[in-house]
Amino acid sequence: MNRCTRAIIYKDNLKYNLEQIKKYVNPDVKICVAVKADSYGHNAVLTSMLAENLGIEFLAVATIDEAIELRNNGIKTNILLLSLCTPIEMEDLFIYNITPLVFGREFIEILSKTADRYFKNDEKFNVHLAVDTGMGRIGCYPEEAKEQAVLINNSKHLKLGGMITHFAVSDSLKKENQDFTKTQYENFKKAVESVKEEGISPGICSCGASAALLNNTDMHFDMVRPGIITYGYYPDEITKEHLLSVHKDFDIKPVLSFETKVVAIRHFPKGKSISYGRTYVCEKDTDVAILPVGYADGLLRRFSPGLEVTINGKNYPVRGRICMDQCMVEIGKDNKDVHLWDKAIIFGPKECGALNTADDLAKLGNTISYEVLTSISKRVEKIIN
Ligand SMILES: *Cc1c(COP(=O)(O)O)cnc(C)c1O
Repeated sequence: MNRCTRAIIYKDNLKYNLEQIKKYVNPDVKICVAVKADSYGHNAVLTSMLAENLGIEFLAVATIDEAIELRNNGIKTNILLLSLCTPIEMEDLFIYNITPLVFGREFIEILSKTADRYFKNDEKFNVHLAVDTGMGRIGCYPEEAKEQAVLINNSKHLKLGGMITHFAVSDSLKKENQDFTKTQYENFKKAVESVKEEGISPGICSCGASAALLNNTDMHFDMVRPGIITYGYYPDEITKEHLLSVHKDFDIKPVLSFETKVVAIRHFPKGKSISYGRTYVCEKDTDVAILPVGYADGLLRRFSPGLEVTINGKNYPVRGRICMDQCMVEIGKDNKDVHLWDKAIIFGPKECGALNTADDLAKLGNTISYEVLTSISKRVEKIIN
């Protein structure tokens, strides 16, 4: 594909971030890199290969299809399935050796029955018990962990390979939120202890994603599960500045650059309106660059007004509404710095000339970098650099 609207994946930055994470985490703590949603849009196979080469122990996906893609591309590392699957998908867990999160009598029983059909003799299949300590999503209550662990280990072919919980507000530095995280951690610890008291090994226990990995180093347990920091973005208030202020040296670089090219330059007289709804009217005679990128590519409509794109080291404002496939950028009259076919960068790493990051766009769109990254659509080819 030769389309100029594309995303470049800077694999050296991806590798750099993975190395930074590895260096930051105590060597006896395992790392599970979240590669769900095609690595937040960064190519899950590439990320998984780099992680595997660094000896990272686990990868995490959201769907069985995502896991199968990795297996079909030769990835051997353990894969954790973070979202629940339905009975029809369960056999694939065994075929492709994917470790599911489980909880609830019905789910465990049907998984156990399916495993009975697939495994022989005393073969055992690892599952991780999900515990809801305050996220309000999947998992059993901490008080139920013991009976669920018993249920798992009493089944013929299932084995408790780990326990997992997820923090709801660990990306916030507010005292009440850090207190809530601490309570979640304590309740998880209690659940793990209750399983141990029953004589069952809890396996690999994990609770922290990127935010707690960086900020709550006392809560790493046996494994941490970084996602967003792998791709070069900090989780909300857990920033580089904050980490430096608490003497925790850490550095990451954005990995993906979202770019296009100027496909036309037109002169617009004062008073001419731009795009649907005529929300912008030229205040003076000016020139406008047309970019072949729109909301169907993931350049969300709500980024305008406010969005600026970088052309030859300078930012220019998008004017009027972003269309499905195009948008318009005011470059000013007779601008000698902008030419037909010049590259226009929407966001990306500094080293490739970008002046904006996914965080800047997130602010404009009242969202988070995660959504900006995963919104880049299938129509945008991802090129590994
Ligand atoms: C997505 C996810 C992660 C990674 O989260 P980040 O904030 O991107 O680090 C970790 N654990 C679970 C259960 C998740 O769903």
